[in-house]
Amino acid sequence: MDNKLEKRIVRETAIAITKYRMIENGDRVMVCLSGGKDSYTLLEVLRLLQTRAPIKFDLVAVNLDQKQPGFPEHILPEYLESIGVPYHIENQDTYSIVKRVIPEGKTTCSLCSRLRRGILYRVSDELSCNKIALGHHRDDILATFFLNLFYAAKLKTMPPKLVSDDGKHMVIRPLTFVAEKDIIEYAKQKAFPIIPCNLCGSQENLKRKEVGDMIRTWEKQSPKKVWNTFKALSAVAPSHLLDTDLFDFLNLKTTGEFFEDGDTAFDQDTFPDLENEQVINISNLKRDK
Ligand code: SF4
Repeated sequence: MDNKLEKRIVRETAIAITKYRMIENGDRVMVCLSGGKDSYTLLEVLRLLQTRAPIKFDLVAVNLDQKQPGFPEHILPEYLESIGVPYHIENQDTYSIVKRVIPEGKTTCSLCSRLRRGILYRVSDELSCNKIALGHHRDDILATFFLNLFYAAKLKTMPPKLVSDDGKHMVIRPLTFVAEKDIIEYAKQKAFPIIPCNLCGSQENLKRKEVGDMIRTWEKQSPKKVWNTFKALSAVAPSHLLDTDLFDFLNLKTTGEFFEDGDTAFDQDTFPDLENEQVINISNLKRDK
């Protein structure tokens, strides 16, 4: 086991949890476990943090068995019992519903995930959990950002923390700062019993594949480009964009005094010499006071 890798993932997760105040003393966190590398990593890292953090919180692993053909039902219960984590398996045949409602050849993901989300919210209430943790990581957040940018003309992505539409559930993404390549390596080293993610038979979303390939190519050619794009999501300057809802351009007036939303953003020194800069490390991200 590469301890440096584990330390990095744990540190990045701890920074995200602290920066966005994802988990607080007394929380009961439902960890959604699909059987993929991301959710196994999430559970493992939260378990490690549970023993080290200065706060107390409970974890309950939850798997939604969507009754996809060939789903190996025994794997998750055996794994969770072997590590002693309380768990719940929710059996709901969303697979048949999706197959019945969506015509053959059309993409099934949006209905499938809407059904899954509703079920997970209900289960979190039944288990008295006040937080729902998902295994999305840095590259998921970047991919969603580019999908919205390229195909929906919006500057938005999946946030580290959100409240559900009905205002009742808090969803958190503790792996927000963790790069996918680290998770792939970690999952390999820990030999998690991975369940294949293609059992539903859904076609891979071509647009998502396109942006995923783009990010992976950048990651190989210039990791700092990927980190810089990611960091930019936490360094937004509304006065230097075009959205009149975010910045009041209409009532903008000269005052003759220093103006912090002024033209400083065009100064050369705010564009560092990327070629000579060290690879951006997540530890450069500051914690909130
Ligand atoms: S890939 Fe399959 S299981 Fe995942 S959201 Fe799409 S339809 Fe559902």
